[in-house]
Amino acid sequence: MSSSSVPEPIDLVVGTAVFLDDKTLSVDEKKIQAKFFVLATGAKPMELPIEGMEHVITSDEFLELSELPPSILFIGGGFISFEFAHFAARLGSANQRSVILEVTHRPLGTFDAEMVELLAAVLFTYPQFAMVGKTEEGINQEVQTYRKSFAKNLSWPTYQRVGLKDAAYKMLIDTKNQILGAHLLSDHAAGMINTIKQAMLHQTTVDELFRQTIVSPYPTRESDLSYMLKPLLTD
Ligand SMILES: Cc1cc2nc3c(=O)[nH]c(=O)nc-3n(C[C@H](O)[C@H](O)[C@H](O)COP(=O)(O)OP(=O)(O)OC[C@H]3O[C@@H](n4cnc5c(N)ncnc54)[C@H](O)[C@@H]3O)c2cc1C
Repeated sequence: MSSSSVPEPIDLVVGTAVFLDDKTLSVDEKKIQAKFFVLATGAKPMELPIEGMEHVITSDEFLELSELPPSILFIGGGFISFEFAHFAARLGSANQRSVILEVTHRPLGTFDAEMVELLAAVLFTYPQFAMVGKTEEGINQEVQTYRKSFAKNLSWPTYQRVGLKDAAYKMLIDTKNQILGAHLLSDHAAGMINTIKQAMLHQTTVDELFRQTIVSPYPTRESDLSYMLKPLLTD
């Protein structure tokens, strides 16, 4: 590699920025010029238009609490509320109680409805809940032909060994026998979803993925993938 292709080191400039014109930014006394600027200032929690907001704390403030209150109401049934309710349930006292309040007809609206129902009955993100690709509702809206395999309360040896009774999966497959979406409740869902994501990125068919996973070390959760794929094989 020639020295001219070595990228410039990244400068970190700390201060309050003001645009002087469309190509010049002033940070305190320093002027920075560029053809394009990318604004990446992040998001902040939504201000709820309800009375009594002064009594509500944000997720940042929750993480700074020195001790957990005995009961907590999380406003908004998204994945952050589920994560935090899980922390509270795990880290709090035996009497610690968390409630998640959701304004729409169900929490985790972007996730698969059947799996969310199982999760809500399982309690707060244990086992892990992971998804990649499309939900069944999303596919239905596109009126697309698809096949699926779905099973819950899995009693596979990997789960029996650790006493996990709530594991479940749903796989959605297109007409080319490639994965459209996968939804997993498992103590190792995060690892398995990566394998499925790779298969989706490489447009691996279910039959090919089955052949790859059947040689996974047993009893790992990845070896369980072959049980999920078997009902969907075409040859
Ligand atoms: C509680 C919580 C849990 C999350 N969990 C996950 C997770 O498990 N997995 C996941 O993928 N994502 C998670 N997210 C989302 C993830 O944190 C955000 O999507 C991600 O941080 C967004 O990155 P960003 O660079 O856009 O913004 P940020 O990470 O917010 O960075 C923006 C930066 O800009 C700075 N800034 C703001 N205004 C100015 C200004 N005027 N001048 C200069 N600097 C400024 C801020 O100080 C900040 O450092 C979570 C978010 C929250 C709140």
